[in-house]
Amino acid sequence: MLDELQSGNQQMIRDINVSNVLNVLRVQDAVSRVELSHALGLGKSTITVIINALMSCGAVEEMGAQQSSIGRKPRSLRMNSNWKYVIAVRLDISQVHVGIINLKGQIIYDKKIAKPLRGYSWEDILRELVPLVRTICLDAKIDWEHDVLGVSLALPGVINTSTVSISRLSKWPEFPIASWLSETLGKAVAVENDANALCLGERMKYTPANLDDMLVMLVEDGIGAGIIANGMMVKGGSLGAGQIGHMKVSDDGMLCSCGQTGCLETFVSNSAVKTNFVARLSPEAAEEIAGKIGTPLDQIDAQIIARLAMQGVPEALGVMDEVGFYMGRAITTVVNILNPAGIVIGGPLFEEAEHLMLERVWKMIRAETAPVLWSNLQLRVLRDKTKTMLIGVASQILDRAFRVRHDGSPDTMEVSLVSMVGF
Ligand SMILES: [Zn+2]
Repeated sequence: MLDELQSGNQQMIRDINVSNVLNVLRVQDAVSRVELSHALGLGKSTITVIINALMSCGAVEEMGAQQSSIGRKPRSLRMNSNWKYVIAVRLDISQVHVGIINLKGQIIYDKKIAKPLRGYSWEDILRELVPLVRTICLDAKIDWEHDVLGVSLALPGVINTSTVSISRLSKWPEFPIASWLSETLGKAVAVENDANALCLGERMKYTPANLDDMLVMLVEDGIGAGIIANGMMVKGGSLGAGQIGHMKVSDDGMLCSCGQTGCLETFVSNSAVKTNFVARLSPEAAEEIAGKIGTPLDQIDAQIIARLAMQGVPEALGVMDEVGFYMGRAITTVVNILNPAGIVIGGPLFEEAEHLMLERVWKMIRAETAPVLWSNLQLRVLRDKTKTMLIGVASQILDRAFRVRHDGSPDTMEVSLVSMVGF
């Protein structure tokens, strides 16, 4: 009994040491054995044994020794970032975007597939996803069985991670996506709201590590926000935090999908922008615009309207003024409540007409909130939206992989890299 306990403790200490070495290598490009020994307070012989195990399983590579002015420098080690991968998938109403993400959080392969999803059941969608992720691995010459840690999905809607099911503010019913997919694929599966995934990716990719209070807003067919406060993702008591599209910004307005009126979404979503723009056009102006863009007016979208605003078309500028006003009104409330250090906004209007939109939003923030709340605020436009989202949602599995052992998540698949070292 005592022997078993001691043996268990020794194994746990070995696992923690291996995990600590992997986590140093995760964030540093190159490190020597001596540096690892100092950083982790472990003896050189312990480090040597761990590194030998990591090298023999392919997790770590040795780089050549370099000559310097003070003599030969010790050989550097680095993580083999392509040792294992996570498959990240973004599903939205019209397309599926799949990316293969390595251990350093880099996209090594990605593919976009046009696929209208609205109206299908979750089971229909997931049944198509199963062969798709395997095909993507074949295309990228990745061994699905051996090299893939798991699959991460970014979806619109309210994601209930405790029971691993989903609800959405539309007719799609709840479905236990993560457990269904995990059982079918035989891999770990993580599911995250798309705006939250974007927020995680944005912080990983672009923002300084100390930016622990930030918000990413996505203004598309719906309006979602991912919120990080005090370094933690804000989920909400019913896991519905960030439904910023349903913030009431007017006493008037169209009926929203949530059953209320005056929601931000009814003024600034892509469809609201299109309706607003078309309603402003006289019959002559409508004909002129259709000729200018070379497409029937019913096919116009928010991206084209943003371009027309950039060209000085008055009706498009009028729409921009209105969107800026309502976005600004919503953002001032957010600034007053959360005092974020950074707000990043994505969506076609902001991506196409960055200066026009940010100018209008800043005008509202300055007019309606105290300078102490915005004097250090970074307000900017999101770039590389889908890739950032894929990296963010992959981090849900990557972060688990770098922990010592399985953390009791609802699916039972082990993704800890330590368990794959054979040490
Ligand atoms: Zn609403």
